[in-house]
Amino acid sequence: MKLQELNVEMPYLELEDEFHDKTDITPLKDPFLISYSLDAAELLGVDLAGQEELLVKIMNGETHLKGSEPFSMCYAGHQFGYFVPRLGDGRAINLGRTENNWNLQLKGSGPTLYSRQGDGRAVLRSSIREYLMSEAMCGLHIATSRALALIGSDHDVAREKWEKGAIVLRMSTSWVRFGTFEYFYAKKKFDKLEALADYVMDESYPHLKGRDDAYFLMFEELVDRTALLLAKWQGVGFNHGVMNTDNMSIAGLTIDYGPYAFLDDYDFGYICNHTDTHGRYAFGQQPNVAQWNLSMLMRALSPLVNIERMQEALEKFGEIYSGYYMGFMRKKLGFTTEDDDDISVLRWLFSIMQQESIDYNYFFRVLSRYDGDKTALLALCELEEPLSEWLDYYEKRLEKENSEAEERHKQMLATNPKYVLKNYMLQYAIDKAERGDFSGVAELLMLARTPFDEHEAFESFAKPSPKSVKNLKLSCSS
Ligand code: AMP
Ligand code: MG
Repeated sequence: MKLQELNVEMPYLELEDEFHDKTDITPLKDPFLISYSLDAAELLGVDLAGQEELLVKIMNGETHLKGSEPFSMCYAGHQFGYFVPRLGDGRAINLGRTENNWNLQLKGSGPTLYSRQGDGRAVLRSSIREYLMSEAMCGLHIATSRALALIGSDHDVAREKWEKGAIVLRMSTSWVRFGTFEYFYAKKKFDKLEALADYVMDESYPHLKGRDDAYFLMFEELVDRTALLLAKWQGVGFNHGVMNTDNMSIAGLTIDYGPYAFLDDYDFGYICNHTDTHGRYAFGQQPNVAQWNLSMLMRALSPLVNIERMQEALEKFGEIYSGYYMGFMRKKLGFTTEDDDDISVLRWLFSIMQQESIDYNYFFRVLSRYDGDKTALLALCELEEPLSEWLDYYEKRLEKENSEAEERHKQMLATNPKYVLKNYMLQYAIDKAERGDFSGVAELLMLARTPFDEHEAFESFAKPSPKSVKNLKLSCSS
């Protein structure tokens, strides 16, 4: 299908005015296409070849998709533990929903009713980060919003210094946040809460429609989806950075990519967000924070669902999370059977990794080819003995598996990515892009789509992060 044939519907506008505000897109000056994702285009069923000019026009608000009536969404949220009664899409503008349920949204397309003091813009560096990571998470099989395309411009945007404005066209099966429910709960508008719950059920939980206790079942399923999401984040070493309830998806997806990071060296306490002085959203805290966020959603849903039942469902979060997490980690270690000691084996490994500053994803990738020769792994340590002892134990544990090494290696190589987009790699693409060279974006997009494959030309990106650029903290400014 050609872009001009892509039709969108506006189901969110059927909700009352308090949910949204119709918004005009404010075009950027001299926009140009930087990149588009073939995979995301395929999801929409559009062929973008030869359509670049039209794509830029649509993303810059100079032309509208068929059926589109752009609008922004209203929501509240707990930011760093404190409730903010009104946030909303301050720099995101929704274009509508495609027939196959992708909600298209521009980020950085100018002020909206919800912009507060903000300018409604997004700068090039943060847009590159959002664009690439949406596609990278998908490549890692982690539930996420997606990104169709990225445009740059000659539009000046004031941050700590002058930067250039950019826009990402994001797509998601849902843009509703925990904070959307919190908004109506705080205002005691329970009829609207119910209308929202029905909307979310239609959009993200259609199989529950018509069931007795459907709202409860929806909450219970979200607890499960969120536990799975967090298990995957922790397993792959992803630190979101701003897990405020307005950045938590009601559909259990990763959304709103800000100062996120993949771990370089394993560090349980790692904080990627420079403004998070107390480490509320530190890497190791994420599962607890997710549960706390779910408890805020539970409170917001309490006018619709029996709170004791939700409480019971939420209390199972830890157990569900651990089940998913251990399942994932066993796969990373090449175990197909369960052993009671697996949790302690993993804790033992993490204490060594933390102590020896071992690159998290690199370690598992090398382990995926382990055949009894310890050299490559011990080379990662200053003090070799602890890891050597652990590997002796690991070998004994593998004997219990009775698996063929070749089959195990194959499965581990398909579980442990060779490439994750670490911050220093993103910075490499951003530095180039700020000089007008977008080849780094294209390279990282290719790695993002195929993180388990070998790419000889990019061997250096698969190695432990260079010392000088490890464990960077990122500013929230974007
Ligand atoms: P975030 O932490 O990036 O998810 O943003 C928190 C809130 O601030 C959301 O309501 C955003 O829409 C809003 N926001 C962030 N940056 C801007 C900006 N430059 N202009 C307007 N609103 C913004
Ligand atoms: Mg946000």
